[in-house]
Amino acid sequence: MPINILSQETINKIAAGEVVERPLNVVKELVENSLDAFASSITVEIEGSGKKLIRVCDNGSGMDKKDLELSILRHATSKIENFEDLSHVYTMGFRGEALSSISAVSNFEIKTKKKGETSGWKLLSFGGKDIRIVPSAGCEGTITEVKDLFFNTPARLKFLKSDATERSRITDSLEETAIANPEISFKMVSDKKIIFSTSKTNNKLERISDILGRDFSRNLKFINLEHPKVILDIYFTGRDNSLANKKFQYLFVNSRPVNYPKWLIHCIYQAYKESIAHDRHPAILIYITIDPSQIDVNIHPAKREVKFADEQGMYDIICKTIRNALVSHAHQEIKINIETRESEVPKPSNISSSFIYQSKKENIFNTSNSVVSEPISKYNPKNYSIDKYANVFAKQQELTGDAFDEDNIKVLGQAFGTYIVVENKGDLYIFDQHAAAERIRYESYLSQIHHQSIKMQQLLIPETFDLPPSSSEVLKSNIELFNDLGISVEEFGQNSFRIISYPALLGNIAIEQIVKTIVLDIQEDKNAEIKEKREKIIRLSCRASIRAGDKVSFIETKKMINDLFKCDHPFTCPHGRPTAYRISLNELEKFFKRR
Ligand code: ADP
Ligand code: MG
Repeated sequence: MPINILSQETINKIAAGEVVERPLNVVKELVENSLDAFASSITVEIEGSGKKLIRVCDNGSGMDKKDLELSILRHATSKIENFEDLSHVYTMGFRGEALSSISAVSNFEIKTKKKGETSGWKLLSFGGKDIRIVPSAGCEGTITEVKDLFFNTPARLKFLKSDATERSRITDSLEETAIANPEISFKMVSDKKIIFSTSKTNNKLERISDILGRDFSRNLKFINLEHPKVILDIYFTGRDNSLANKKFQYLFVNSRPVNYPKWLIHCIYQAYKESIAHDRHPAILIYITIDPSQIDVNIHPAKREVKFADEQGMYDIICKTIRNALVSHAHQEIKINIETRESEVPKPSNISSSFIYQSKKENIFNTSNSVVSEPISKYNPKNYSIDKYANVFAKQQELTGDAFDEDNIKVLGQAFGTYIVVENKGDLYIFDQHAAAERIRYESYLSQIHHQSIKMQQLLIPETFDLPPSSSEVLKSNIELFNDLGISVEEFGQNSFRIISYPALLGNIAIEQIVKTIVLDIQEDKNAEIKEKREKIIRLSCRASIRAGDKVSFIETKKMINDLFKCDHPFTCPHGRPTAYRISLNELEKFFKRR
């Protein structure tokens, strides 16, 4: 086969495939450019989930005509000059490939005016071709417009998910960026509707509250920790406010939202080990401000991962700090100043939250030559399995309903207020009251749904609640599903909802809390099919109703065990945990050496 030299246009389209997979990537890259241009106000508008239009408007530094011409060339960047510069980048971008890639797969326009210049300029490009630059009036700053994304790479369009999914990805990401950058005001508009809008603040908690809700932020503790190498601001829930999912775990490194590295997840769950149940999760937002020479941000195509030079050191500090804070739960606000180890580096002076916007070449800690990396040998990756939920029942033989004789139930007692001890057909059973109750409720809920006869309870005063914009989208697009299952929830203003009635069998519960939890769960599991979402709603509401439920009196236990054996699957709870532990007479006799 003859070898061809690819045209620049083709090269750019191929490169675009790597950088721009979906509208979200465009939004992220453009917003990062605005952040890098020191904007203090950024507005993102999308239409048709970003496929039709993405417009990002900032009041940043703008570009002159020469820079504008260069900006959409591949590997054109103002942010680094050589590879070594990577070790001290504070900017979000540095690869110089976003604009060339985005413009190759869209109808593209940048309007920009550099600070202090009298005139502005507009660049137009159609699928990366026919590039023109013309004078243009406008304010200082930059407006980048991406229309008809993927119009010339139709295969890409086919890989996109539904509009609602693509839109919620964008909302999620912008929320995260807004939480990372409280000192910048953000606004997001979708199909002409404001999704969220925040004014700038120098208080991180205020921004967290703006985006994730006041109820949520009220429950957070706060630690500020200053160490010569790193500044940490940690907002986290205490023992009493753990959650059913990991939705509220954010990590920001030098204002960049990134995924939690495995060692840091391990560290957090280690710190919480004694404080929350194995199936609960903390909400935790960690802001790390660190000398860029101590991290590597160039290890992931979307820059979602960061590698730290001193993982063990960070691990120790964070784990100890959180653990101590959890124990001293009397204090809502804890300010800690980790002592400077004199042998190390001198403490930097005048550190303020704005220093990360200092010149990119200035080293904040002034320690590039003197930082000592601690050995990371203590850290053992084998300990990573956070899922500590060791199923002690795994070894038990499979229990089936047939093994049990419903007419011969002899309830012997209740232990620890949690277990019911029963003798049956020569076996001793220990039932987990909660797991059993959950199974019973779950199956009767299913049966009511199946017979279309859900018994409802009307709320005297409808429960109203707010959701963060991204979750609100999720609830809106699943609202019928909730209604079909007897949870009558309806929109009640922007990002507000109210619940009018819900299934009677769930009892007296904080239904709005449960709906919120379910929404987060659905949101986390983006690819869930309708069937799976239905399951989630049913299972989670049953579980919540049992958790909140009254103690089962001894008299009720017999009825309960009876009801349990009317279920199709008496020996597991709907979440897959066992409902009973069996000890056969045979085993007892062996143990007591009677045999
Ligand atoms: P990178 O961000 O990696 O440098 P991009 O392709 O995203 O690469 O942008 C290329 C260059 O265009 C940037 O380095 C910057 O100089 C300029 N630029 C892009 N967007 C803006 C903006 N909103 N304001 C000012 N300059 C910008
Ligand atoms: Mg960029």
